[in-house]
Amino acid sequence: MFLWESIAFGPIHSRRLGSSLGINISPTDVKICSFDCIYCECGWTLEKNIASTHFLPAPTILEAIRMKLQQCHEEHVHVDSITFSGNGEPTLHPEFDTIIAGLKKIRDQYYPRAIITCLSNSTQLQKESVREALMSIENPMLKLDAGLEPLYQMINRPLIPITLAETVHELKKFNGQCVIQSMFLKGEVGGTFFDNTTNENITAWLQIIKDIHPLRVVLYSLDRETPAQKLIKIYKKDLEIIADKVRALGIEAAVYE
Ligand code: SF4
Repeated sequence: MFLWESIAFGPIHSRRLGSSLGINISPTDVKICSFDCIYCECGWTLEKNIASTHFLPAPTILEAIRMKLQQCHEEHVHVDSITFSGNGEPTLHPEFDTIIAGLKKIRDQYYPRAIITCLSNSTQLQKESVREALMSIENPMLKLDAGLEPLYQMINRPLIPITLAETVHELKKFNGQCVIQSMFLKGEVGGTFFDNTTNENITAWLQIIKDIHPLRVVLYSLDRETPAQKLIKIYKKDLEIIADKVRALGIEAAVYE
């Protein structure tokens, strides 16, 4: 398990995004998230009191990003995507919309061709400022790991009161202008076996995908160490079978191992 120790890092090569410059707007010493996913590469969410979290102010974050982009630009480093993916959920930052607006100006100055990507767990979409900020970037990648409520609660373990139905309601407000990212896995948690690749879950998940009609669906499975110990990876050939069902809806799908 690891935490990013800086605000801007990389770029690192990503199969999904190319040369990706990472942005972490969560604290650097603790993971802050509204989920406690059983597969999170940052480990369990130990800090459960989001309200008392000390986030760095937007001007401090934007200056750190500006310096990093300026440095990369001077060193002729190629950047395809400026990507929010840090120690938790970026949309929990109280100034998320201000940071997005500031970042767009900095991006236009140094890397006008780079896209802005935000990996989000979709739990803050009921806030208009968050939704509009995500809608204003090129690549909002929004998490949807289950089609059935019990699986949503078991895999993502929300720390705030939120249901799958509420999340889907908000995702539909993107009018298809988003990317859905879905983790597939199975295993045992707390003595209960689960599997989000069953026909029952995939049928429900596909119906939601059809309703949201995103630009693209990204399917993936386990890659790194997980906090829950008895999890089983879904291999590429099985992810491709699910992806083909998405493609049959006329929606682009990509599989990453
Ligand atoms: S939403 Fe992301 S950061 Fe939060 S617990 Fe899940 S995997 Fe980890």
